[in-house]
Amino acid sequence: YVTADLNDRLAPIAPAEGARYAKLAASSLRQDALIPLFDGKFSLRPDGLRGADLHVENGVIRLGEKGLFHIEEGKSRRFKAYRVQHNQARGPYKGGTRYHNAVSLDVFKMLAAEMTWKTAIADVPFGGGKGGIKLDPREYSKDELEAISLRYMYKLKPMIGPDIDIPAPDVGTNGEVMAWMFRQFSDGERERHTMRGIVTGKDVKIGGSEGRVKATGQGLAFCVEEWFQDQGLSLEGSRFILQGFGNVGSCAAEILCAMGARLIAVNDADGTVYNPDGLDVAALVAHVHQNRENLKRSVAGFAGGQAISKNDFWEIEADFLLPCALGDEITGDVASRIKVKLVAEGANHPTTPEGDEVLAARKIDLIPDIIANSGGVTVSYYEWIQNKRMEHWTEAEVNARLEKAIKSNYRIIKDISLDRPRRTPEFNSTPFMIGRKIPTRTAAMVLALKRIEAHYLIEGFSQ
Ligand code: GLU
Repeated sequence: YVTADLNDRLAPIAPAEGARYAKLAASSLRQDALIPLFDGKFSLRPDGLRGADLHVENGVIRLGEKGLFHIEEGKSRRFKAYRVQHNQARGPYKGGTRYHNAVSLDVFKMLAAEMTWKTAIADVPFGGGKGGIKLDPREYSKDELEAISLRYMYKLKPMIGPDIDIPAPDVGTNGEVMAWMFRQFSDGERERHTMRGIVTGKDVKIGGSEGRVKATGQGLAFCVEEWFQDQGLSLEGSRFILQGFGNVGSCAAEILCAMGARLIAVNDADGTVYNPDGLDVAALVAHVHQNRENLKRSVAGFAGGQAISKNDFWEIEADFLLPCALGDEITGDVASRIKVKLVAEGANHPTTPEGDEVLAARKIDLIPDIIANSGGVTVSYYEWIQNKRMEHWTEAEVNARLEKAIKSNYRIIKDISLDRPRRTPEFNSTPFMIGRKIPTRTAAMVLALKRIEAHYLIEGFSQ
């Protein structure tokens, strides 16, 4: 046989005449692999990592295009990876997968708990979970991210399942990562189609739902629309500022601008652009996409607006502010400086407790994250049902369901917050009249906890 080290090799391996086997070594293979030199295709899979695809033709071995499966020239790397399962009283654990440098066990515990409240508010039959990996995805190639994601799912597989715990995208992940995770989970299984629902947020071509990519931004836009209607105001001609131009921020911006609102400033991790006449959202998306290719993914440098400081961004006068980036951005200080009537939280917990107090004192309305950004997990639920039923719903159907669900849950929260008699039959007989007005965030928590409590009270179990 011939012995070959796969790590740096892209050129074909030509065994000496008469060789019948090839012994292949690579740092990521636990042991040398011995393959017979029959014509055919081989896939070497060191546990969980993508294997090298090998083709043997006329005794010559060729590595597939993605034959290299090591990171940083064959050196392996360790990452801190997590999955937190917070509560399953209402159904399987559910929540996103975050790839970001600023994560820790504590952060995931908090985000998993938020998913428990969010799924209850969205009234989808799920509990709360969250997970991810401590890394900056911008620092890795696609192949590396694929290998890392496969390894993550390899380790996760014993703990999750389509009826146990269902990951989805979050900051730093997308449908592509979900596809890799699905592949790893279902690899070698005979009934792979029954496992589609192991992750949501997949590409529509492999069992994802229409409308899922835009769902969080769409849900946020529905909440804002409802708020305007409540105030007797029109979205048409309103002005808003936005923090974060990732999936949630950019989709919400596109949808709200199509409804007639005007986006006048966007801030992200690398800069702020401002245009009092309105930013061209489509051009901004194109700009960010271009930047994405050089891994900056930023609005910085956009020609259709002027660059301003983050400090100045907070003080721009507008009708509403959408924080759609990371947590803890609206501090007490920021809340005391913003000049908007409404803050609608596209991000998870963007406002600190001090920020909350200042917003309330200044009578700035708040649509809290657990309802404002619940569109994502709501459509994740629709995707999961479609997977179970082997169905494919139209985007119009998905959006109509989402609109009805999110607006009615938002109305219930509003009613609780204003201490109005319940209009929802579901709560007519439930004695949770508070007897006074409470902040919308507290009202959202009341709704979440009431719906979760029902399971403990009626089923009578303690967990
Ligand atoms: N990551 C999203 C969130 O924080 C979506 C979660 C999901 O669809 O499971 O709500």
